[in-house]
Amino acid sequence: MRPAVFLDRDGTIIEERGYLDRLELLELYPFTVDAIRLLNRAGFVTVVVTNQGGIGRGIIDEPFLHHVHETLDARLAAGHARIDRYYFCPHHPDAVIPDLRRKCSCRKPASGMIERACREMSLDPGRSVTIGDRRLDIVCGNAAGTRTVLVRTGHGAHEEAMPPGTARPDAILNNLMEAVGWILRTSSR
Ligand SMILES: [Mg+2]
Ligand SMILES: [Zn+2]
Repeated sequence: MRPAVFLDRDGTIIEERGYLDRLELLELYPFTVDAIRLLNRAGFVTVVVTNQGGIGRGIIDEPFLHHVHETLDARLAAGHARIDRYYFCPHHPDAVIPDLRRKCSCRKPASGMIERACREMSLDPGRSVTIGDRRLDIVCGNAAGTRTVLVRTGHGAHEEAMPPGTARPDAILNNLMEAVGWILRTSSR
């Protein structure tokens, strides 16, 4: 089984835009390509795990989401970096699409997406790390049995100031690049 890094999308690898519903709103952080390339070269499987309730709410559709991810992939590829797979949850409690209006096991803080990725890609959660800008990312990573890093980009600085609730981050760092540095220093090879 292989180690992975489970990456939240908005506020972690790209700028937080609320609902990203136009391609022009897609903006990588300046360190994102380098950080992901470092993970690729260190042998971590890179998996994006993202709540996309905007699909259930009818704000974006699935083809558009794939288009965003293909565009993101192209920008990463230009810097020789790669996301190995994307998992998204299209559900939302207020979804307008009836099939998507339900309490699912994939919407973070639930850990269904990470657990599914581990099964489908033979990943070892115990040697893996979850990175996100919200406490729900940390709760999800904790529940899946990974280590976790809260980053201060996106909602992170605000979330850090909130009561922790059940989230137990192993580290709180400024951004994705610092998180990757921490992973490379602290992972047993
Ligand atoms: Mg986020
Ligand atoms: Zn879901």
